[in-house]
Amino acid sequence: MSAIKHLQNYIDGQFIAPIEGKYLNNVNPATGKVNNQVPNSTEKDVEKAVHAAKKAFESWKAVPKLERASYLYRIAEEIEKRKEELIEADSKDMGKPYSDLKNVDIAETIAQFKLYANAYSVDTTQHFQSHDMFSIEHRDPVGVVGLISPWNYPIMLIAIKIAPAIVCGNTCVVKPSELAPTSTYLLCQILETIGLPKGVVNVVHGLGASAGEPMFRNSKYTKIWTNSVTHKDVRAISFTGGCVTGGRICGLASPMMKKLQMELGGKNPSIVFRDCDWDKTIEGVAFAGLFNTVLCLRVCVYAGVTMSIACAFQTYQKKKKGQVCTAGSRVFVEESVFEKFTQSLVEYVDKTYIQSKRIGDPTDANTIMGPLVSYEHRQKVEKYVELAKKEGGKIILGGRRPDHEIQSSMKNGAFFLPTVIVGLNPLTSKCATEEIFGPVITIHSFKTEKEVIQYANAVQYGLAASVWTQDVQKAYRVAREIETGTVWINCWEAYIFGQPFGGVKTSGIGREGGKYSLDFFSQIKPIVCKL
Ligand code: NAD
Repeated sequence: MSAIKHLQNYIDGQFIAPIEGKYLNNVNPATGKVNNQVPNSTEKDVEKAVHAAKKAFESWKAVPKLERASYLYRIAEEIEKRKEELIEADSKDMGKPYSDLKNVDIAETIAQFKLYANAYSVDTTQHFQSHDMFSIEHRDPVGVVGLISPWNYPIMLIAIKIAPAIVCGNTCVVKPSELAPTSTYLLCQILETIGLPKGVVNVVHGLGASAGEPMFRNSKYTKIWTNSVTHKDVRAISFTGGCVTGGRICGLASPMMKKLQMELGGKNPSIVFRDCDWDKTIEGVAFAGLFNTVLCLRVCVYAGVTMSIACAFQTYQKKKKGQVCTAGSRVFVEESVFEKFTQSLVEYVDKTYIQSKRIGDPTDANTIMGPLVSYEHRQKVEKYVELAKKEGGKIILGGRRPDHEIQSSMKNGAFFLPTVIVGLNPLTSKCATEEIFGPVITIHSFKTEKEVIQYANAVQYGLAASVWTQDVQKAYRVAREIETGTVWINCWEAYIFGQPFGGVKTSGIGREGGKYSLDFFSQIKPIVCKL
């Protein structure tokens, strides 16, 4: 990828500088070097983008749905051609290893565009009839939709929103993370190459408060009950990010009755019973909690003609560093095997990740763990580790920045060793109950099913959980009682395309994926006829 010095917004089919001409540094967390400058946009840019999306809406929604779907195929093809650039962009922006980006992020990005092209190529409406009436489920697009995404899967989480939004006939204003903006900029070049009509996808870069919030904030542009303002025109917000940000967006946007889809944070339990498959569980729990290796396959079933028919399979392996919303960062181990399991887990993590010197340069194919996304984020992780000590925790692995464990060229990067902590109270410790979003797991013991279910449900979050046992009845009993969006049994991060994803409690509202996203990005209107 030739060096791009200044990224630009993409509005009404044009690459344009932010109206106030201000930019932010986009820093590579592996090296500390500046990658490029990202527009520090304001509500004036958002205004322009919403206006463009609104102008494009009527003609885009009139495009036949098969033709809309064909644009998605072309986007997928072009991403395939330019995947090396996209991999480089995301890796430089947020430090993810190349292999991970290739096998997971890019593969899924392509698959998402194909999935929604396929899904929408068929009639998904339902029909109802009685002896003297019939009714059809008519689907309209929602209108202009706001799509806001985080940095941990930059291109993939944008694709998961853009693909269903535009195939349903909506136009959108996208706000990618300011920490990982480059791949979205490249995606805009792809949209231009394939000739997506202008105004269908508009991208405004910048900080959340100034470039995201104006989509729904009650500002000078937001005279809610008049016709002359843009923000009344953003009819739905699909947001992925932290719980605090999500709460703020809900507070500001819900009085305007905008449709909201909130995919938020988690502090997810991994529950280990003594009758688990020992080696697979050690690998799987390490994978879920810290970064990952090769045990759990992300199984993506490609949904074809209808959402329920699987027509192709792809398997991926993931490698991350705890910076995933579903990270199994609270491990509960049955008391009788607690000591043995903890020791085995620590030995495994130490050997596989620390002693093997595979933490470092994300561009190296041998690397399985890159830096954290930023120096500020590392500070946050370090604060939690210090807090754990004050809360009575004992650090039994890691707990510091790497030193001799990492090559000298990476010494300035935002790296942190995988960390294991024991001795914390699972109900009251902040370190054990708040989302850290780093390579830190806490391990606790439990005696009974009832007790571990209480621990699992004791946090404000409810995104995901995993249960490790060879007793399927017990696994299912526990899975049913856990208040969470997804439960994995003897695996983690396993997905079948089209299955719903989302959280309960403060982890979110609504579900993303397959038909659930098509529902969110549609207004479903029964048209009833009396015979
Ligand atoms: P974040 O909430 O800080 O930011 C997410 C996005 O929101 C960014 O684009 C940011 O600029 C924007 N934003 C920030 N403040 C805003 C505001 N007031 N109005 C509008 N937009 C605003 O989150 P992050 O640090 O980028 O990502 C990490 C978080 O995302 C973690 O909590 C993680 O669990 C969560 N996450 C959830 C899922 C999921 O599917 N549930 C997936 C990935 C990440």
